[in-house]
Amino acid sequence: MSKLVGPAKMTVTTTTDEAPWEDFSMHADDFKLFIKFISDINKKMVEEDGKYVRCAAVKETEQLGPQDLDILVKYYQDIGLLPDLEKSLPVKIDIPPKFHQKINRSIAYSMQYQLSPKDAKGNSLALDAALDRFVDAYKSAFSPSKVPYHTFGIVEALVLPDVADKELKGFRTSYGHSEQASRKDISEAERVLGRLFRRALMFPQLLGNVPQLPKETEKDHPPDQCAEIICLPFIEDSVSRYLEANPNGVALINCFTAEFRKNVKVPTQFCWTCNKYAEDLTEKKNGLRIVDKSSGKIYESLETKKRFEVLDALAEK
Ligand SMILES: [Zn+2]
Repeated sequence: MSKLVGPAKMTVTTTTDEAPWEDFSMHADDFKLFIKFISDINKKMVEEDGKYVRCAAVKETEQLGPQDLDILVKYYQDIGLLPDLEKSLPVKIDIPPKFHQKINRSIAYSMQYQLSPKDAKGNSLALDAALDRFVDAYKSAFSPSKVPYHTFGIVEALVLPDVADKELKGFRTSYGHSEQASRKDISEAERVLGRLFRRALMFPQLLGNVPQLPKETEKDHPPDQCAEIICLPFIEDSVSRYLEANPNGVALINCFTAEFRKNVKVPTQFCWTCNKYAEDLTEKKNGLRIVDKSSGKIYESLETKKRFEVLDALAEK
């Protein structure tokens, strides 16, 4: 069973005017379903690591067509890598297919496009181009002007030195997008379940709540809004497993997110929640460095910094 352990320091306090984020801890049963769904995915990805055959109907180098995201979902469900969420959710609630699509599409896409994590330099251009392709897939599925999410992200894991690559099991690259901010065209059940899924990924220990960090500005989004919420935890699972098996190991997580509106792409750096999350996680996990490629900020403990210095010195010899 893979571990779903978020940073211990992400504690919850009660909501206030400055930190008014919704508490969904009353939906414990639904929350547990998502915890299981996520855990099953991570477990399968480890079991099938390097073994599963990717969907041949969707071509590697070509732009995805309008149906391709759903072809990927069906394919990965059929081969048993992606559990059928629809079957596990309570039937008493009427949930439209688009709810399941929203969750399944980026996971299936991530299963299909595991970039080869060979470049130890963490080439941001490669991430950048890969993210564009993911966004194009969504534009194709929705028609460009109707994509309901504006921020998309890609996260990749690398372990160093390269020879340790094969020991990294599970997701190495993961894609995600922000939650739709508008409550238009979405039922209350869908909205709550969608947020519970995100919370189960990023804040599994908070049981449906989110960290009640104070708002810095009026425009602050909720802590479960970001694209990072979807893609970072799947990678964290792989890297945590690697560092547990290799306590003196070194792992690098590169994150890149950008806002896409009309044809303008603007890189977005970690918000306060993601910043805190990365700070807590890297402080807790020696050997893990997280880089926010949009800001260039590096998150690591002193011990991790030393390990990277040793590797850099070896590389220079
Ligand atoms: Zn964020």
